[in-house]
Amino acid sequence: MNSPLIRAIMLDWAGTTVDHGSMAPVLALQALFAQHEIDLLNEDARRDMGLLKRDHIRAILALPNVRAKWSTLTGQEPGEAQVSVLFEEFGPLQMKIIERHSKLIPGVAETVKNWQDRGIRIGSTTGYTRQMLAPVLAQAAQDGYRPDASVCPDEASAGRPAPWMLMKNAELLDVYPPIACVKIGDTVIDIEEGRNAGMWTIGLTRTGNLIGLSAADWESLSLTEQQQRLRKATETLRSAGADFVAEDLPACNAILAQIEEKLAAGLEPFARV
Ligand SMILES: [Mg+2]
Repeated sequence: MNSPLIRAIMLDWAGTTVDHGSMAPVLALQALFAQHEIDLLNEDARRDMGLLKRDHIRAILALPNVRAKWSTLTGQEPGEAQVSVLFEEFGPLQMKIIERHSKLIPGVAETVKNWQDRGIRIGSTTGYTRQMLAPVLAQAAQDGYRPDASVCPDEASAGRPAPWMLMKNAELLDVYPPIACVKIGDTVIDIEEGRNAGMWTIGLTRTGNLIGLSAADWESLSLTEQQQRLRKATETLRSAGADFVAEDLPACNAILAQIEEKLAAGLEPFARV
């Protein structure tokens, strides 16, 4: 076939290619705060998902309920020193939990292989540091998913929503302009990152953080409940400015065809300000 108009696809990790429901970061954050006698609510752990984990911990400590609880327990307001302490403790906890929650999401290996066979390069970005991503990357490779590049926030001057990790992937893969690239992720912050880089964006619902369920828990929901959750996640991603929304990675195939049609017609990502 002719060389594709889409030259690269930039994929997020947890909730997009591995770890259905983006469970590992939530369990690790809850274990971290439990060490400090704070019961971290699922929704509070998920609210700022996608940020570099250090930034994410800072955002959680700034939540009024967590801040108040911390102050009551310790007699002082949490500051940057506490963010550092928690981030230090987070690494080992996350490593333990990641190993149990880094399975590939069904369909990912085949879908990505097909894109690569078409000549599309695959980049990836994450909120994990390189140390945290290393075992996930190795497990994914074993299971048949091998992106052509990966960049972690500790390898760029800032994590999401800054576009630098995506820019660095583009440079590593030698692909440009940004409108020839598609960013796919499962959080609001993934969409902001993609928009800031000037790339097309696709938000994922069923496998991601906004629904936040393992494959088994998802299957146990009634059809009505599933539809409601999908609708809510779609609205959130759309409001964040996602050009398109899909249930999972394999469902992005039809969207890529639409993006190629738009590119062929000289159109750029829409919903831009
Ligand atoms: Mg994710």
